[in-house]
Amino acid sequence: MKRGTSILGLLSLVLAAAGSAGTSSELDDKCLAFDPRDLVPNSSVTVREFVPAGTNITFPYNDPSCNRASQLVAANLCRIALSVPTSNRSGVVFELWLPEIWNGRTLATGNGGIDGCIKYEDIAYGAANGFSRYASHPRNSLHVSDKLDHTFGSNNGHNGTSGDAFYQKHEVVIDYSWRALHTSVGLGKQLTASFYNTSTAKSYYIGCSLGGRQGIGSAEKFPKDFDGIVAGAPATDFNDLYSWRASFFPLTGAANSTDFVSAETWKTTVHDEVLAQCDEIDGVLDGIIEDPTLCHFDTRRLLCSAKAMGTNTTSCLTEPQVQTVEAVYSDYLWPNGTLLYPRPNPGNEILAADGLYSGKSFSPSVDWFKFVVLQNPAWDPASYSVNDALLAAQTDPAEIRTWPSSLAPFKEKGGKILSFHGQQDQQITSLNSARFYRHLASGMGYDADHPDELSQQMDEFYRLFRVPGMNHCSGGPGAWAIGQGGSEAAYTIPFDGTHNVLAAMVDWVENGVPPDTILGTKFVNDTPSAGVAYRHRHCKYPYRSTFDGVGNPLNESSWDCINFGLA
Ligand code: CA
Repeated sequence: MKRGTSILGLLSLVLAAAGSAGTSSELDDKCLAFDPRDLVPNSSVTVREFVPAGTNITFPYNDPSCNRASQLVAANLCRIALSVPTSNRSGVVFELWLPEIWNGRTLATGNGGIDGCIKYEDIAYGAANGFSRYASHPRNSLHVSDKLDHTFGSNNGHNGTSGDAFYQKHEVVIDYSWRALHTSVGLGKQLTASFYNTSTAKSYYIGCSLGGRQGIGSAEKFPKDFDGIVAGAPATDFNDLYSWRASFFPLTGAANSTDFVSAETWKTTVHDEVLAQCDEIDGVLDGIIEDPTLCHFDTRRLLCSAKAMGTNTTSCLTEPQVQTVEAVYSDYLWPNGTLLYPRPNPGNEILAADGLYSGKSFSPSVDWFKFVVLQNPAWDPASYSVNDALLAAQTDPAEIRTWPSSLAPFKEKGGKILSFHGQQDQQITSLNSARFYRHLASGMGYDADHPDELSQQMDEFYRLFRVPGMNHCSGGPGAWAIGQGGSEAAYTIPFDGTHNVLAAMVDWVENGVPPDTILGTKFVNDTPSAGVAYRHRHCKYPYRSTFDGVGNPLNESSWDCINFGLA
C-alpha cells in the first residue's frame, strides 16, 4: 500500500480483498430481525440499520454542540441505538455497533468533559481495528487482535456539552458519574450475546479525560464489568480537579485587567523561558520536557529587571505578572497547607494560554459549579474561592470523586488498567496521574521505600505510561500516536502490543503479555500520509525515559527506561 492512501481508499481496498458481499446481506437480514426490546424492557429503538463498510453515517439528531455530524465506518456492521430509562426521571441513549466479523470481545467507550456526547469516532475505531491492520500489514499472519470488536457507547445520560442538563436533576448527575456506563456495559454484553447467539468473551474499555475517570471509577465500583481498561489522562479526584480549573480565572484576572499576562506572552516569553530552564534537563534540546516533575521553573528570570539590558520590554514581565505566573505554577493548597491539587506541568503554555490561563472562565468548571455544586445558575465564576472547593469536596455529587485507595477486588479477579498521560497536558496536569499512582500504591499497602518492589506489585494490574510532548489526550510535539482513540493516526500505526494501547491491553489480558513500554509514533506534521517522523519509547511510571547521551535522540534505542523512584 502506498503512503498517502486515505482511509476511504484503504477501505475500498479492504472491501475488495474481503469480498464480503455475500455475507453482508445475511448481516442485513439478521440486523433488521433483531429486536432488542425483547431483552430490554421499556426501551425504545431509535436506530436499527445495516451499515456497509465505507458508509459515512450522519447523525442528524445529535446535539450540534457535540461537534460530531458524521462518522466514516470501516466495517460492515449492524447499528442499534436504544433509549433506555435509568430511573423514572432519567435515561441513556445507547449505541451498539455489531460488526460482521466478531472476535467475541466487547469494547465500551467513554465520554469527555461534562458532555453527553457519544464518541462515534471511538466506536468506529473499535469496530474497525481489524480491517485497519489487515490492510496496513497484509502479509502478517492472523493475530489474536486481528478480528473485530463489537463496540458500544452511550450519551452518558444527557445530550450536548452544557451542564444545564444537571440543574436540579440528581438522577442525571448519577448517570453522568457512573450509571450510564454501568448500564451500557450490562446491556452491551447481553445484547451482543443474544445477537451472535453465544456468550461474550473479554470485556474492554477505552476512554480519555472524563472517559479515563469513568474507566477507573468502573474498576472501583463495578470490578466485574471490565477485564481491561485503557484510561487516558484520567480526571480522577474530579471535584478537586474542577476546583483547580475554576481557580485560574480569579488568579489571572480577565483578559482586559491590568497586568494580565496575554496569550502571546504565555506562548512566547513564558514558554521560551520554561524551555530554556527545563528542556535540556533530559539531555536533549528538542522542545520537549521529558519529565516535568523535574522542572521547577524559576519565574523570577522573567522579570524585566532580570532580563538582559537592551532587550525589548515585551519579552519580559512586570512584577505583578511574574507573581501571576508563579501562582499559576504552584501547587494548589487548602488553607491548612495540604495539597488540594498539583501544579500544572510546565511546558503546557501554548495551549493553556487559550484555555485555563486565557482570562476567561473555564466553561465545564463553571457549569459544574453553577448547576451541580452550588445550584445557582447566576453564579459569577470570578467569585470562585477555596470555599467553593470545600463545598464540592464535601458534597461529592453522585460520588464522582474517583479517588480509590484500593482496587483490590478488580486486581484479584485479574483486571488490568493501562493508563497514560501527556506530559504537557493543558487541561489535567500529568502530575495528578503520578499522584494517583502513589496514592493507590500506598492505599494497597505497597512500600514506597522499595520502589522496584512497589512497581512490581503495581505492575500486576496498573501501569501508567507517561507520554512526553503530548497534550491533553492527543496532539503535541512528542510521539503521541499510541492508538488512544479514533483518528487517522490510530488507524495508521500497527495494531499490536508494541505500538497501540488497545492492542497492548488485549495482549495483557488474553495472552498474559503486559506492556513494559509503549512505542509512540510521531507523524510528519501530524499527517499520517506524510510518513513517520520518529518513534519514542514511553516508560511506565515510576520509570523515566532517559537519554543515553550518545545516540541519535530520534532513534528510540537511544533512550532507556530507568527507575529513579516515586517522584
Ligand atoms: Ca528535551
